[in-house]
Amino acid sequence: IPPSKLIIKRRDKSQIPNNKLQICDYLKLQPKYSSKFSAFVPIGNGCDNFCTYCVVPYARGREVYRTVEDILDEVRGLVSNGYKEIILIAQNVNSYNSKIPNLKFQITNKSQISNSNTINFTNLLKLINNISSDFWIRFSTSHPKDMSDELIKAIADCEKVCEHIHLPVQSGNNEILKKMNRAYTVEHYKKLVRKIKQATPNASITTDIIIGFPGETKKQFNNTVKLFKEAKFDMAYISQYSPRPGTGAEKLVDNVPKEEKKKREEELMKVLRKTALENNKKYIGEIVEVLVEGRNKRGEWYGKMGTGKNIKIAKNRKQKTDLVGEFVEVKINKVRDFGFEGELVK
Ligand code: SF4
Repeated sequence: IPPSKLIIKRRDKSQIPNNKLQICDYLKLQPKYSSKFSAFVPIGNGCDNFCTYCVVPYARGREVYRTVEDILDEVRGLVSNGYKEIILIAQNVNSYNSKIPNLKFQITNKSQISNSNTINFTNLLKLINNISSDFWIRFSTSHPKDMSDELIKAIADCEKVCEHIHLPVQSGNNEILKKMNRAYTVEHYKKLVRKIKQATPNASITTDIIIGFPGETKKQFNNTVKLFKEAKFDMAYISQYSPRPGTGAEKLVDNVPKEEKKKREEELMKVLRKTALENNKKYIGEIVEVLVEGRNKRGEWYGKMGTGKNIKIAKNRKQKTDLVGEFVEVKINKVRDFGFEGELVK
């Protein structure tokens, strides 16, 4: 689900005057949480990037960020109420910036703040990671052009930050990326993947792809296939291109036939299933930490690993207490392309 939808779901629309959403007011609204253990915390809204296929900058406006005091207050409140997972969301989390807070705000470790007079996303992650409580930090979505070396290092160093990076690439071809106005090249993206895997070897990397962007040739699409084989993604959200009213790409001829888009999507899915399964095989016999999210009709618990991957936990008759919202240790005994099965260790 794109972050925008999650934000809408999370906020109480009755608080919006005349039912019109003003971005600044929007970030000040009293949050409503739909889960008792996992919370989406917006850190910003809007986007300055103007990718040619996307309506967000027109629909939501330019980037606006919440102050660091505001975000830390909300996270402290949540974790003191037992929340186990904080998901920081914005259209582009890694371009987050906020002024150095006023005197009321205490920073215990000044080395976690950059030398300039703003706090960036890396600093924010470190400050949240410093809050003493047992919880996970996730974030979405990151833009490849704003993924800095210091952020990659912070993700590796901060023990509460989950080893999952969602990094939408959209295409594996430089000409298409240019037409999309994505402001990076395939080479830059591949370099990021290498750096992330070097810093966090178990990191799961997921992405978004648009199939059949106007003018995408079979040869250009094959570059995306090549990228999938090299990056070995754990998951990809693949969409077939369709024009959005008012965007730059709407003026381009949507000339890749629907059938061809479908064929390309299937081809990419095949590669994805293969790489995801290969990545997952290394977990057989491993014990992993899982945040339990629920229980199915058969009485099996299910949840997510730090990598964001789904896992089903075999029924255990001795387990009487409710595990939803708890961290548990699970030994993995079965892997699939997009999921795992295991048994409770404790
Ligand atoms: Fe912004 Fe591009 Fe993401 Fe749309 S797709 S929200 S324009 S970065």
